Order: sequence, then structure tokens, then C-alpha cells
Amino acid sequence: MTYRVLARKYRPRTFAEVKGQDHIVKALSRAIERDRVGQAYLLVGPRGVGKTSTARIFAKSLNCERGPTLEPCLACPPCREIELGGDTDVVEIDGASNNSVDDVRALRDRVHYQPLRDRRKVYIIDEVQRLSGPAFDALLKTLEEPPGHALFLFATTDPHKIPETIVSRCQVFEFRRLREEDVKAKLAWICAQEGREPPEEVIAALSRGCRGGLRDAESMLDQLLAVADGEPTLDDLELVAGLARPERWLDLLEAVERDDAPALLHAVDEFLARGGTERDFVEQATDAVRDILHVALLGEDALGVQPAPQRRERMQALARALGRDRLEALLGLLFSLETRMSQAPLAARALLEWTLLRAARLRELLGAGALLDSLRGGGGSSGGARTAPVPAAAVAPAPAPAAAPAAPADRGRLARLLEEVGKSRPTLGAVLRSNLVEGQVEERGVRLTLRPLEARDRSMLEDPVERAFLRDLPGSPGEWSIAYAGAERRSDGVGERLREFFGGVEESP
Ligand SMILES: [Zn+2]
Repeated sequence: MTYRVLARKYRPRTFAEVKGQDHIVKALSRAIERDRVGQAYLLVGPRGVGKTSTARIFAKSLNCERGPTLEPCLACPPCREIELGGDTDVVEIDGASNNSVDDVRALRDRVHYQPLRDRRKVYIIDEVQRLSGPAFDALLKTLEEPPGHALFLFATTDPHKIPETIVSRCQVFEFRRLREEDVKAKLAWICAQEGREPPEEVIAALSRGCRGGLRDAESMLDQLLAVADGEPTLDDLELVAGLARPERWLDLLEAVERDDAPALLHAVDEFLARGGTERDFVEQATDAVRDILHVALLGEDALGVQPAPQRRERMQALARALGRDRLEALLGLLFSLETRMSQAPLAARALLEWTLLRAARLRELLGAGALLDSLRGGGGSSGGARTAPVPAAAVAPAPAPAAAPAAPADRGRLARLLEEVGKSRPTLGAVLRSNLVEGQVEERGVRLTLRPLEARDRSMLEDPVERAFLRDLPGSPGEWSIAYAGAERRSDGVGERLREFFGGVEESP
């Protein structure tokens, strides 16, 4: 028995089996029903979403012995031959390899002969944008006065490369990238047909990784099923498809959150060592950040984000710790990184590392963390914003500024306290740290001012159990009082400072 790759074995054979392109199926079906089939169609869309499959189904519908019909029988000679690519009246041409004038002239000469057996003589030209200029001219002559029995179905990933004179003679159909759910459903169905049962998270990760290209997903699944001992795992997926395990992205973002430079550099190194490219890294990291942003904005209802239970909590903690501003800024960083990489491909790795290191310092940039950084004694470039301004002339080793809201020793104490909180209550610690505006350790308690919080975080802070935990923390002088800063924008001109930070690269996602 010969082995057929899954993408071919399970390619759609009828309109009903075409997934995610309902608008096109509907339009073509209507044309058949009303007997108003045109002479030239241009099928536009990314690779692997069903353009040529649809073209073949259309040809079968028109030429089936029981047709024209919306449900070709799949059994008569035209149906079977079209499916196998052997029907003399249905010619498939690959624009990439048959792009000379001579090829198109030969086509032009033959097109005028009546079909030998079928109703319509169909020319399916894949990658039509690859035809040469003279070949397009020859094609245009045919399209200007096509014989009534001829039907042209052009497929392209790149319609801009096709002369307008050709496009204007075609009905144009735009294929969509498939939705993740559609890809997932198809892959699950294929697995069932094959008697395989990979874990759902493998199918989910694969569906996401292929970015709406079903054929890519199918051929990855093919390799995955072939390679794996037993059912494939996320590790197999990482090996075969270069799709890093979801945990790795959580590790990475946690390293960004705590500004852990060595961990960031190691993550890049590992990813590249497994055979991924810098571009793959950016794509997958972008997806991961987007997921966390969705969790931050939509909570439980985050669209399309269905993490396994063990990841859910980490994602929620990350969403809170990073917060909307930093997540949006992170996405911006990744978008401008893509631009920079295409400008300087040889420096891709350095750019990637540099971007991650900068990303880890976003909090400092965004202002809210300035205090925290100075509390930690880190003193970043824009840190210490809330300590008393030191006159430029004061170069002498002056005594500690008396007017500072918190003396240095005091600041160290608050930093240690917050660190202590994080050790046994990571979420609480993250909420306090990332929303801190001002804080003082006083004689009988701790006074914090936080940015306005979401209801859920706020109720956590108001929980008497958590308050008691804070009060009894080692080193805590007593009750913690928490106030919220007014609803004023916490840092104006963030966009301006971001542009400065990123070196003025236009962000064009
Ligand atoms: Zn048939």
C-alpha cells in the first residue's frame, strides 16, 4: 500500500468539506445553481488554505457526469480523473515551472479546441503570479476572447504581481486564513481517521503555530505522527515543528518581569540551538504576549486562550504582574524588532537579545517602577524619580537629603518587606510591586499608595486574611494601610519616551 501524505489524503473533495471559506463556497455554488459560471476566476489567499482544492472541486462540479451539480458524485470518470490530475480536459499548470511564453502560447492554441469529453475545458493555473511578462501578454489575448467552453481558474498568494489587465477580467475571490478552531477541528478529525489520539494540547499548539495555514499544519501533523513513539507530546512538537513548549514562553515572560538577564539570554540560546530561527522566536513570543494581554484585559473570557490548568495560574499572575501598559509596550517592541531584523538580518540574534534586555527594563521606562527600582537600590537611569531632586551643582558628598519622603535605610526596608511578601504570596507580591506608586515604612505600620486596581486585585488586598499576613510578616512594624492614587494618568508622554527608548523606529505592525 502506498503512503499518501495526510494533506493529500484528506484534502477536501466536495464543497461541504472545504473549511473556513464559506463565503467562497456560497458564491461558487450559487453560480452553478443559476447557471452563471464565468470564464475566469482569480483565487487569492495565503498558501495552504484550500485554493487549488476549491478549483478542483469547482471543475468536478461542472464536469461530473451527473452535473453540473453542487455534489459531484466522485465516482464517474471525470470526477475520478480530476481528483487524480489525469483528466485531459482539466489542465493543471504550475505557474512557477511553466512560465515561458511558449507554454502559454501552446495553451492559447489548444484552448480553442472543444473539450474531448467534459462540458468545460478547465485551466487551473497555480502560482499564476510567477508567469513572465510575455506569458501574461499571451494569456491576456486568450482572456480577451475566450471560447465559451473554456474556464480559467487562477490561484495566487500574491495578487499584486499580476497585471491589472488580467485581474480586471477575472472574478476575484479572497480566501481567508483559517481560524484556529477550524484547523483544530480538521486535525482532530484526521487523527480520528488515522486511529490516533494525540493529547489535545498538542493539537492546540500545532493549530496555533501554523497561523491559519491548514496544509502546513497537516504536514507537521504528518511528521509528528510518524516520528513519535506512541502518541506525540509537546516535546515531539518542539523537535519536529520548532514550536517551543508553552511553558517556555511563560518562563521567558517571567524572566522579563523580574529583569533576569541571564535567563533571557539562555532562552534565546536554547531556542536557536533547537533549530528555530530568530524570526520564529519573535512570532511565537508575540503570540505568547498577546495571550497574556488577552488574559489581562478579558480575564476568564480571554478569546481563544484555553491554557491547560497548570498554566492558567501562571498566566494570570503574569497578566497582573506585567499589566496592560507593559504588555502593550512589549508587543510594540516585538513589532519594531521584526522591522529591525529585516533591515539587518545578520544582526538578528543581537537585536533579539538587545530587545529582550530592554523589554525587561520596561517598568523602569514606564515610570511606575521607578520607585521600586530605587527601593531595590538598583538606581536605573530614570530611577529615583520620587526622591528629592538633587541640584545639578551639588557634587560634594552632601548629607542625605532631609526632605526625601523616605530615608535610604527605610527604602531598603520596604524593598525587603515586599520581597518577603512575594516569597510566600507570589500574586500578592506581584500586585504590590507592579502597582506601587509610593511607600513608607513607619514606626507602627506600612503605608503604601498603589495605582488603581482591578476589582479582583483590590478585593484580594482588602481580604482580612491577606492583611493579617502582611501585618505579621517578619520585619513588619504593624498594620499596612493601602491607599490608591487618583485616577490621573500615571505617566504622560509614555509614547514619546517609548519612541526615544526604541530609537525612533516606526512601529508598523
Ligand atoms: Zn461525477
